[in-house]
Amino acid sequence: MQITFEDVSFTYSANTPFASEALKQVSLTIPDKSYTAIIGNTGSGKSTLTKLFNGLLLPTDGQIIVGDTVVTPETSKKQVKNVRKKMGMVFQFPEAQLFEESVIKDVMFGPKNFGDDEETARRKAEMALERVGISDALYDQSPFDLSGGQMRRVAIAGVLAMEPEVLILDEPTAGLDPKGQDELMTIFNDLYATGQMTVILVTHQMNDVASWSNHVIVMDHGTCVFEGQPTEVFSDQEWLEHHHLALPDILAFREKLFANGLSLPKDALPLTVD
Ligand code: ADP
Repeated sequence: MQITFEDVSFTYSANTPFASEALKQVSLTIPDKSYTAIIGNTGSGKSTLTKLFNGLLLPTDGQIIVGDTVVTPETSKKQVKNVRKKMGMVFQFPEAQLFEESVIKDVMFGPKNFGDDEETARRKAEMALERVGISDALYDQSPFDLSGGQMRRVAIAGVLAMEPEVLILDEPTAGLDPKGQDELMTIFNDLYATGQMTVILVTHQMNDVASWSNHVIVMDHGTCVFEGQPTEVFSDQEWLEHHHLALPDILAFREKLFANGLSLPKDALPLTVD
């Protein structure tokens, strides 16, 4: 599903003395079935963007076109509910939202809440758990008895069980060890590779941007300053500096790419967007 922002602005606490403009006339496109990475410094507007993607916030100005729905400041709550159904949002540290007494019940909660009967909800939950590599031996365990990495995968299965068209991941690997990070990113890539989903990844990990995404959006001070292919982002150090992205890890990553003799690993990347 394609998402298009047309001159979208968003102000927190609009029309009050505490008004704070987080997004300023942002125009961008998340292509259908793309794997889009959103990067930018802290406070650049990434979280606000994701909340507008899934209808948690409405624009204060401009419009967002999600599939065939147009979301404007006047859009009704009912219309936004239809949009939200299509969006699977994985917040940071999603395991904090686990609450049921067993793994399977936790993952079934979402589908049941959307009106599925017990049997359908269970089928969707089992499929989602399989996709994140949680075996049926763990279904009846308390989610709180699992390892940190397993808990996170159960929480993500809870989002997948609702069969979203768009998966929005906000720093999904934060706090995991390198092996856990790799495993999780591979799961997302496998999900993406099924061709059924548009994936949006908010991240600080530049290697994830280069390895997985095929479309990149760079945010700076509430505006979208770049939209294009991952390799282009890293090509110009001055540009990175200008947009507050000349952070040590980003520059180190850029150096590594150039040192490898790959002016940038263009051919190695899945760059085509249908
Ligand atoms: P990022 O996710 O890139 O760190 P955010 O979208 O969280 O950026 O923040 C963008 C801007 O909006 C920042 O200036 C931030 O201080 C402000 N902001 C974020 N959330 C709120 C809020 N609930 N109330 C007021 N201002 C906010």
